[in-house]
Amino acid sequence: MDSGERIEEWTLLFWTSLAVIVPVIITLWCSTQRSKRKTHMKDFFRKSKHGWHYTDLFNKPTYCCVCSQHILQGAFCDCCGLCADEPCLRRADRSLPCKEIMAPARPDGAPEHRWVRGNVPLASYCAVCKQQCGTQPKLCDFRCVWCQTTVHDDCMASLADAEHCDLGEFRSLIIPPHYLYHVNKLRRRHPDEYSKLASSCGSGWTPVLVLANTRSGNNMGEALLGEFRTLLNPVQVFDLSELTPPKALQLCTLLPPGSVRVLVCGGDGTVGWVLDAIDTMKLKGQDQFIPRVTILPLGTGNDLSNTLGWGSGYAGEIPVEQVLRNVLDAEVVKMDRWKVQVASKGLYFRKPKVLSMNNYFSVGPDALMALNFHTHREKTPSFFSSRIINKAVYFLYGTKDCLVQECKDLDKRIELELDGERVALPSLEGIIVCNIGYWGGGCRLWEGMGDEPCPPTRLDDGLLEVVGVFGSFHCAQIQVKLANPVRLGQAHTVRLVLKSSRMPMQVDGEPWAQGPCTITITHKTQVLMLYHSAEQTDDDDDDESSASETESPTPNDSPRPPGPASARA
Ligand SMILES: [Zn+2]
Ligand SMILES: [Zn+2]
Ligand SMILES: [Zn+2]
Ligand SMILES: [Zn+2]
Repeated sequence: MDSGERIEEWTLLFWTSLAVIVPVIITLWCSTQRSKRKTHMKDFFRKSKHGWHYTDLFNKPTYCCVCSQHILQGAFCDCCGLCADEPCLRRADRSLPCKEIMAPARPDGAPEHRWVRGNVPLASYCAVCKQQCGTQPKLCDFRCVWCQTTVHDDCMASLADAEHCDLGEFRSLIIPPHYLYHVNKLRRRHPDEYSKLASSCGSGWTPVLVLANTRSGNNMGEALLGEFRTLLNPVQVFDLSELTPPKALQLCTLLPPGSVRVLVCGGDGTVGWVLDAIDTMKLKGQDQFIPRVTILPLGTGNDLSNTLGWGSGYAGEIPVEQVLRNVLDAEVVKMDRWKVQVASKGLYFRKPKVLSMNNYFSVGPDALMALNFHTHREKTPSFFSSRIINKAVYFLYGTKDCLVQECKDLDKRIELELDGERVALPSLEGIIVCNIGYWGGGCRLWEGMGDEPCPPTRLDDGLLEVVGVFGSFHCAQIQVKLANPVRLGQAHTVRLVLKSSRMPMQVDGEPWAQGPCTITITHKTQVLMLYHSAEQTDDDDDDESSASETESPTPNDSPRPPGPASARA
């Protein structure tokens, strides 16, 4: 090997390593710059009065509110709708105000429009000439951040009543900035004063508080928060990952008693969390401020939400505006809540475990399914972020347990008392105690196939429905309406004594394994919920069942008293 070849080899090696190292260095440098910029921006966002969010790509044509240039990436405010690219962001933040959450009204008491120029929503129409707005490829046309009215640049001059803003379609749900301003100015904070102030907000004013759990259901909560902040006053929209329900609900104590509605965006678990916070309000003597609760279900299989007519899971099928319209139309119903006391055997000196129950308590196969699902989810959380995978996995665990009969001969190991009377049990593997009509993600448990007469149930009758199941296969059959559960009875108080061995149990989908114990389920409180009469989805609806649905339009657990037409029993 001569020296020429040697040198050639070295040059080749040099260039090869250069070709590898240079891109790596560039990538590293870019990513550190990016993360530096991100933390810098986060700091800036936190201090800003706007609700800025950064996006790498806007999902519609967007123009910077400062330099009017077309921009692909930058920041937008999810309260007032301003958009700006990075170089203009600071100027936008300084010179343009956000939606004011608290401000005095004009001397005549009427609020004013607050116009934001450009980036009007797609398919919005001019209030003057009725033609589409935002069609020109530039920063153009106006939108009022309160009433959502849109107007062309050229039509602005001829807008009738240009001074006065009526807050638009959702005026009866919005907390106007002047209301909070006057409450803040009150020398004596008293509910009567609030009611007097409320008269300036129009008749039938029922302000809504939105409490969203950004951790439920594929992180939809984040986007929903933004949409509600755009449509309502940002002060009435809460992110439950930043503020707990008891703190968020304190806003109720500044609003007229008996008028407030709370929209919970989250799963049944989140609803339970909010209802617990409402119970705490009662303990604090704030009974008069207690709000009515309505649900926008996130995730899947939300039986409580389904029972109240809000569907079992929302994935953006209807626009947020329609959600608010449904809240406006909903009717108030009462719902029982229950206390579950678990006193473990042999631990007499320890306090019994006390849980709140809205949906159901169960011991046996369906609790085992939930327990398996729960432990696997803890192990591999990322895998469980999709709704469809969740359903498939749940199904797999269910079928697996058809083979492993862990709950055999439950009837020999458990005693059941309904209102103090011992109930003779057939050969069973599981017992389910229901407060609501739906169970197991969209199945009407008490009615079963609907082919046998059964006592009617209501949400506010102070009664629990108790059924037995023969095993997980029977559970699966009930879910697809191929079998009926064993109806054991209805009761005001349910007592279960587990004499030996460990059994899977669950309250509202929260499972655990429980040794010998006594379980007592008693009535706790009634809460005011909102009922939406349009939508109840059975997951396994087939022709036969929809035929039986038309035959009795009012489901048996409907909060309204069953009329003669719905008497199925
Ligand atoms: Zn700009
Ligand atoms: Zn803003
Ligand atoms: Zn307006
Ligand atoms: Zn116009």
